[in-house]
Amino acid sequence: MNLASKTSVKLETRPEFSDSETRCTTLMVNKQELTFPHCHVIANAPLATRTTWRIGGPARWLVQPTSQTGLQHLWKNLPADLPILLLGGGSNLLINDDGFDGIVVDLVSYLDNIKIIDTPTHPDKSFFIIEADAGVSTRALAHFCRKQGIDGISFLAGIPGTLGGAVKMNAGAYGKEMVDVISELTLLDKSGNPHILIPSDLEMTYRSSQIPAGWMVASVRLKLPPGNPEAIRNQIRILNKKRSSSQPLGYPSAGSTFKNPDQGPLAWQLIDQAGYRGKKVGQAQVSEKHSNFLINLGGCSAHDMMLLIDQTRHAVAQSTGFHLKLEVGIVDKIGLRTEN
Ligand SMILES: Cc1cc2nc3c(=O)[nH]c(=O)nc-3n(C[C@H](O)[C@H](O)[C@H](O)COP(=O)(O)OP(=O)(O)OC[C@H]3O[C@@H](n4cnc5c(N)ncnc54)[C@H](O)[C@@H]3O)c2cc1C
Repeated sequence: MNLASKTSVKLETRPEFSDSETRCTTLMVNKQELTFPHCHVIANAPLATRTTWRIGGPARWLVQPTSQTGLQHLWKNLPADLPILLLGGGSNLLINDDGFDGIVVDLVSYLDNIKIIDTPTHPDKSFFIIEADAGVSTRALAHFCRKQGIDGISFLAGIPGTLGGAVKMNAGAYGKEMVDVISELTLLDKSGNPHILIPSDLEMTYRSSQIPAGWMVASVRLKLPPGNPEAIRNQIRILNKKRSSSQPLGYPSAGSTFKNPDQGPLAWQLIDQAGYRGKKVGQAQVSEKHSNFLINLGGCSAHDMMLLIDQTRHAVAQSTGFHLKLEVGIVDKIGLRTEN
């Protein structure tokens, strides 16, 4: 039986167009007209609705490649003098209130193909090889695999965002992370040329990977064992139950705001020690349920969230001596700041 298939998986929460954004066919940069085939271009595109924190101003332009060809052409022809931001599911980003004064490359909307490349055929070859676009939702991918009887990525079923974002962050949960399941990746360099790499090329460590500046993940191959769909479903149920009992999933957040220190107490324990559980700045709050989740109580500004982040860090340093690093990326008008 040939199980090889090409399936398009839709994101559960594809953003809707809002009144303020404008679809365009071309992009005017420094009096030069740019055209990107196989791409949608949106001017003044709200970013808050494209992040899980629901915070931040608009992008000057948002470009959505609709195929891998469109993505390669776009990446090759982006203007060198404009800030560029790669956006997956926006589940690990704090966008500032003034928005992003450049081009946001939105991978979430259309690059969502999943293919089964290889299936276990005899005792020596006991793995599936799955290939998926960077824009595929990690949750959708986990459920696609479950239905096909492919095990090994149940941990992704509760992690929002895209496969590309999950590689960049080396996302993980309950003892497993992306580096454990990747066989190879296709990255595009600054000129849009594809390169096939393996995980050790990217130095993937706890919530971090070293993707060269100006490169992006275009697609990923995963090596996964077969499993029983019903057993995988139960495993996902158990993990999701654990999550919902310990995390404030009813509020917009970016998951864990701070990384756990290399050694010693976990970030939430340090925040508790500093007495910051439940602390508020405007509509930003350190969650009562999980103190490493900083939540948007409704209409929160990036300014207030940033103040709460700074105050929490300061309080932790003062009371425990630990300097917490951010897990989330901070996007200002012209770029992205991350803490490794
Ligand atoms: C409720 C909740 C629970 C969470 N639980 C977990 C958890 O258990 N474990 C965990 O690890 N994380 C967790 N997170 C954080 C987040 O979901 C992960 O970090 C996720 O993998 C980010 O993916 P994304 O597509 O949303 O990336 P984005 O937030 O869009 O981007 C994150 C970074 O990746 C870069 N990027 C995106 N796509 C690409 C690409 N194709 N190539 C190169 N760079 C790219 C961006 O530029 C940015 O630097 C949680 C978040 C929420 C809201």
